[in-house]
Amino acid sequence: MRANGGRQSRSRTIALVGNPNSGKTALFNALTGLRQKVANYPGVTVERKEGQLRFDDGSEAVLLDLPGTYSLSAHSPDEQIVTDILIGRTSQVDPPDLIVCVVDATNIERNLYLVSQVIDRHLPVVIALNMVDVAESSGIEIDEKILSEQLGVPVVRTVARKGIGIPRLKATIQATTKATGRARRWPLPEPVLKEYEELAALLQDRHRLNSYVAYHEAIDLLTSESPLPDHCDRYAPELIEHVIRDHQKLDFLGYDRQSIFVISRYEWIKGVLAPAVRHTTPGRRALGDKIDRILTHKIWGFAVFLGLMAIMFQSIFSWAAIPMEWISSGFDWLGHQVILLLPPGDLRDLLVNGAIAGVAAVVTFLPQIVFLFLFIGVLEDTGYMARAAFIMDKIMGKVGLHGKSFIPLLSSFACAIPGIMATRAITSPKDRLATMLVAPLISCSARLPVYTLLIAAFVPQTRILGLLSLAGLTLFALYFTGILFALSLALLFKKTFLKGTDSAFIMELPRYKIPSPQTILLQIWDRAWVFLKQAGTIILAMSIVLWFLATYPKLDHASPAEQLTHSYAGRAGHLIEPLIKPLGFDWKIGIGMVTSVMQRELFVSTMGTIYNIQDANDNAGTVSLAHQLRSASDPQTGQPSFTMLTAICLMVYYMLAMQCLSTFAIMRRETNSWRWPLFQLGYMTTLAYGVTFLVYRVGLMLQIGV
Ligand code: GDP
Ligand code: MG
Repeated sequence: MRANGGRQSRSRTIALVGNPNSGKTALFNALTGLRQKVANYPGVTVERKEGQLRFDDGSEAVLLDLPGTYSLSAHSPDEQIVTDILIGRTSQVDPPDLIVCVVDATNIERNLYLVSQVIDRHLPVVIALNMVDVAESSGIEIDEKILSEQLGVPVVRTVARKGIGIPRLKATIQATTKATGRARRWPLPEPVLKEYEELAALLQDRHRLNSYVAYHEAIDLLTSESPLPDHCDRYAPELIEHVIRDHQKLDFLGYDRQSIFVISRYEWIKGVLAPAVRHTTPGRRALGDKIDRILTHKIWGFAVFLGLMAIMFQSIFSWAAIPMEWISSGFDWLGHQVILLLPPGDLRDLLVNGAIAGVAAVVTFLPQIVFLFLFIGVLEDTGYMARAAFIMDKIMGKVGLHGKSFIPLLSSFACAIPGIMATRAITSPKDRLATMLVAPLISCSARLPVYTLLIAAFVPQTRILGLLSLAGLTLFALYFTGILFALSLALLFKKTFLKGTDSAFIMELPRYKIPSPQTILLQIWDRAWVFLKQAGTIILAMSIVLWFLATYPKLDHASPAEQLTHSYAGRAGHLIEPLIKPLGFDWKIGIGMVTSVMQRELFVSTMGTIYNIQDANDNAGTVSLAHQLRSASDPQTGQPSFTMLTAICLMVYYMLAMQCLSTFAIMRRETNSWRWPLFQLGYMTTLAYGVTFLVYRVGLMLQIGV
C-alpha cells in the first residue's frame, strides 16, 4: 500500500463504484463536466474512464468511473478489475483514496450488498443515494440520516441525471478523509466462522496480506468450487491443502458454502434498512408489473418482440426514403457543378466518377443508419431491451447460452465491435467465447447499405396484405436468418469444443421510463459521426484508388466497358472470377468483394465507382446506382449481369461473411490470440461460400429469380 506521507504531493484518487445502471456514468459526468479521458487498464482490456474533479476551493482530485459490478466476489473480467483495485491485488493501479458508492435507491437492498463489501475494505467511503426521484415516485422513502447512522458512512441524496445533490456530494467527498464504516462480524454459524477466521489468520501470516484483503480472500477460497484451479499458482501448497480440508468438513456438515456468506450479508442488510426505509403507495410499479406480464409472456412477449422488429425494418425503408432522396440529389448537384466547372478529362472523371460517386453511394444510407439507431436507442432507454433479453433467455438456454449473451448479440445489430466488447460481462469463459464467435453473424448496420441497395434494385415494390412492403419483409428476413445462423452455430460450438457447465442466470428488469432524447440523440450522433468520418476518409481514399485502378492503363478508342475490362481492377476481377463464378457472381462483383474485405460498405462505394465509370457516356451521376445495377448487361452476350437471384446470393453472402477488418482486430485483442480471430474468419468465409453456393444452385434448379 502507498505510504500516507505521499498523499499531499499528488491529488487524491476517488473511485466511483456501483451496480450496473445505478447511475455511475451520469454522476461521473455531473462531477467532472467534460474534463475526462478514456483509456484501458494496464494489461487488460477493461475500459478505464478518468476525469478531473474540481472542488470549490480550487483543489482537484482524479475521479475514476469503474465498471459496474454487483459484488466484489464476481469473476467476469469487468468485475474482476474493480475487485483487484479495491482489494489492492493489482500492483499496477494504486488503491483509491476514497470510494464513492453509487446506490440505486429503487433497488437499495441489492445495492447494499456491494456497499457492505466495500465498507469491509475499510477505505474512506461516501454513499451517493441516487435515483431518489424514481424511488419517491414509486413509493420508496429512504431516510438518509438514519441510513448513514446505520452504516457509519456519510450518505448524500442525488439525482445524477438532473445534477441534484452534486454540490453536497462534492463537499462531503472533500470532508471525508478517514474510513468510518463499521467492520462487521458476520452472523455466521460457529463452524463456518471458525474456519473463516483461521484461514484469514493463515493468509495474513503466510502471505503477508493485510487483514481486509485476507478476510476477502478467505471468503473467496471457502466459497470456490473444490479443485481451486485459479488459486493454485497464487498460494502455498499447504494453504491449498488447508482449504481443501475446510471444504470437506463444511460440505460434510451440510453447509452450502457458496451461499452462506451471501445470506449472512443479506441478514445484516435487512437490519440496516428496517428503520431507514418506508414504503408508501406503490403507484407506477404496479402498472409496470402489468405491462411486464404481457411483454415477458412466453407467447405474447415473443409476438410483441417480432412485431416491433418488423415495424422497425418497415420504417427504416419507408421513412428513410425521403431524406435519402435529398442526399442523393445533393450529390448529383455537386457532380454537375464539377462538370460545369472543369473541362472534360481525367481530373473531372476522378472527381465525379471516383470520389463523388464512391462517397455518395455510401453516404446516401446515412438516414437508414440514423433510423436504426433511433429505434435501438428508444427500445433500450425505455427499458424494453431487458424484456427482450428476458424472453430470449429461454431460447438462448436451448442453444446452451444464457440470457446474458443476448445483450451482446443485440448490440451486434448496431455493430459487432460493441457486441464483442459487451461479452466481458459474461462470467463463463466458454460462453463468452461462443458469444464472441457468433456475434458477427448478427446483421450489423454496415450490412444495411449493401442489403438496401440490392433490395431497392431487385425486390419488386409490392405490398403483402396491403400493409407490409416486400422490401421491408426481405430486410426483416435477412436479419432474422442472421440470428438463426448465430444461434445454431453457438449451439454447435457449445456442443463440441466449448462444452461446459451451465451457469445460473440472474437478470433484473429495470423500470420502464420515458426515454431521454438527450441520451438517444447523443448515441445517434456518435454513430452517424463515425459513419460520416469513414465516408470522408477510408471510403473517399479507397474510391480514389479504385478509380485509378479501374481507369488505367488506358486503351485508345475503347468503349468505357472495354476500358474497364482492360484496367488493373478489371484484370484483378477477371483473375478471381473463376473462384466466385460458382456463386453466380461476375468479375465486377468480384472487385467489390475484394475491396469490401476491409469493411462491408466498401462494396457499395465500389459499385458506385465502377458503374459510374462504365456509364461515363450517359449522364454521369444522375442515374441511381440501383437503376444502373438493374440495367447492367454483359456486352458480349447481352444477358443482364444482375438478376434477382444474383442479388439474393449477394445478400446471403454478405449476411454470413466476415468482411470486417475491425472485427478481426477486436477479436485479436479480446481473446489475446490469433487463433480465435483466424478461426472466426475461416468458419464465416466457408459458411458464406457454402450457403451462397447452395442458394445459387437451388435457385437455378427451381428457376427462381433468374
Ligand atoms: P451506470 O451503468 O451506473 O454508468 O449508469 P448510467 O449513468 O449509464 O445510468 C443509467 C440510466 O439511468 C441512464 O439512462 C441515466 O440517464 C439514468 N439515471 C442516472 N441517474 C439518474 C437519476 O438520478 N434519476 C433518474 N431518473 N435517472 C437517472
Ligand atoms: Mg456506466
